[in-house]
Amino acid sequence: MLKQIDFEKTPVVEAVNDILVDASKRGASDIHFDPLEEYMKVRIRVDGQLHDYVEVPNSIKKNLITRIKIISGMNITESRLPQDGAIKANIKDIDLDLRVSSIPTIEGEKIVIRILDYSMSNSGLEALGFSDVNLKKVIQMINVPNGIILITGATGSGKSTTVYSILQRLNKEETNIITVEDPIEMNITGINQIQTNSEIGLDFATALRSILRQDPNIIMVGEIRDTETAKIAVRASITGHLVLSTIHTNDSLNTIERLLDMDVERYLLSSALTGIISQKLARKLCPHCRTKRPTTQYENDIFKKVLGHEVSEVYSSNGCDICGNGYSGRIAIHEVLMINQDIKDAISENIRKEALRELVYNSDVITLLQDGLEKVEAGLTTFEELLKIIELEEDEKLAGASSLERALEDTSITHNSDNNAVDSTDLTIDNTISTENGVGNVSSEKDVDSNSDLDADDSNNVLESGDSGNIDNEQNASTDQAVVSQMKPVYQKLDDVVDDSYSVNYNDESIDDSINQSDSDLNVESDNDDEDNSDKPMGINDMLNNNMKKHDDVPLEDEPKKNNFGINDLLNNLKKH
Ligand SMILES: [Zn+2]
Repeated sequence: MLKQIDFEKTPVVEAVNDILVDASKRGASDIHFDPLEEYMKVRIRVDGQLHDYVEVPNSIKKNLITRIKIISGMNITESRLPQDGAIKANIKDIDLDLRVSSIPTIEGEKIVIRILDYSMSNSGLEALGFSDVNLKKVIQMINVPNGIILITGATGSGKSTTVYSILQRLNKEETNIITVEDPIEMNITGINQIQTNSEIGLDFATALRSILRQDPNIIMVGEIRDTETAKIAVRASITGHLVLSTIHTNDSLNTIERLLDMDVERYLLSSALTGIISQKLARKLCPHCRTKRPTTQYENDIFKKVLGHEVSEVYSSNGCDICGNGYSGRIAIHEVLMINQDIKDAISENIRKEALRELVYNSDVITLLQDGLEKVEAGLTTFEELLKIIELEEDEKLAGASSLERALEDTSITHNSDNNAVDSTDLTIDNTISTENGVGNVSSEKDVDSNSDLDADDSNNVLESGDSGNIDNEQNASTDQAVVSQMKPVYQKLDDVVDDSYSVNYNDESIDDSINQSDSDLNVESDNDDEDNSDKPMGINDMLNNNMKKHDDVPLEDEPKKNNFGINDLLNNLKKH
């Protein structure tokens, strides 16, 4: 365990604050609260690896979970359904921006807190670990005023850090930059950022169409997930806009194939595509304790085949007091492909995959493996770490190395399936939550109402109802506002952040319900907020209908069919007969 807390003597508020601040200081990206039978284990993820952090006795467990749920704006009365929340607060002089997720397990609620860290996005493109050659290419690419640049990689590969760094660099007085994101992970002054909201139909494609009428110079699309978005993004990029986006693929070649699979027209793609930046993250060797060791024959063979020269020594480490396990921080491994004319021709002419592969990797591209090996040679990371994140068999074919294949079979290489992959299955969960938040506090009728526009207040109520509980709550005054501001549908999805963080959704079903509601339902008093009741489409329609009926000579029997027959309609009908 990395930390000792005397939970019997420490107030729960302080214990939670201590964990949040300390984990953040240790550079953790996530904090896990795992309920076990005998106690609750807290773990933190640092540089992609989970470590045991502290043990919480069962007697404290419930209060601690409740405290976290309160400050993240969750419904504390609900523990059977997953919930999402957010914390934005300054605790002990540290600004924290956290996404919180709870999920019921058989041992109790498990909570995971994602710690957002903007420091990398703010330190500039130069700080992202691009090799000199790659950095030059990236800068050349982003200076072209049109075309599309794609940043690719798995979940948690630092794509959004790269995108935000590029945007910050392009953010100048003379450019109009508009983004459509899901979620907006970081606010950048001077950039117009739009949060998608699929529940009201504001998806990437819809937003993108409107953005094009907003005189943009640069457009950033959070992620290309579907054919429609891909097509609009490509079209936008050939009509004088620079388009940046991310896509879930492994490398440059896969990216081109994916776009073609999405039915993007070949001739458009070939002229639109400017470049592809693929990246992965490797743990960085601790500079304090790394030591040189001779390379093995196998390692030397790979260096020779991939980099063209032998490497007799590489670095490794067993850890020191500063780093613990030999690694400290992470470094990005890149493949930066500038699309040249040959590749453009190949894309538009529909040549075979193998031929395209040859073209891509015979261009002056530095592959992920090459870039990684250079970083191993430079002592920035280790050979072992590289083997975990790079699919050698792909590059191996390129190098035509048959001995490599045999060598690989001898060593036990586990291909890392991205530790941070928290892929979202958010839609169902979000829907459940928006319903559930209401059910916990108010009558279901009101829940339907409040879904229409005042979710922020709704969540606020959750918070307040929690406040009246027993938990000592000195933090709340300051967090209330922060939490409420988080409730706006700002956060939704981003690869590097909890993919399905907080989102306020408009539940389609609820809306249908409200449409089908009878008049009597609409009279239900809400103690939530007046505005909730002010906009009752059905009530107004009924009134209008009734008015029209009164002034119409048309017999009611001949009325056109309405699906919202209210009590007043019934009464009128009765009068007639
Ligand atoms: Zn060290």
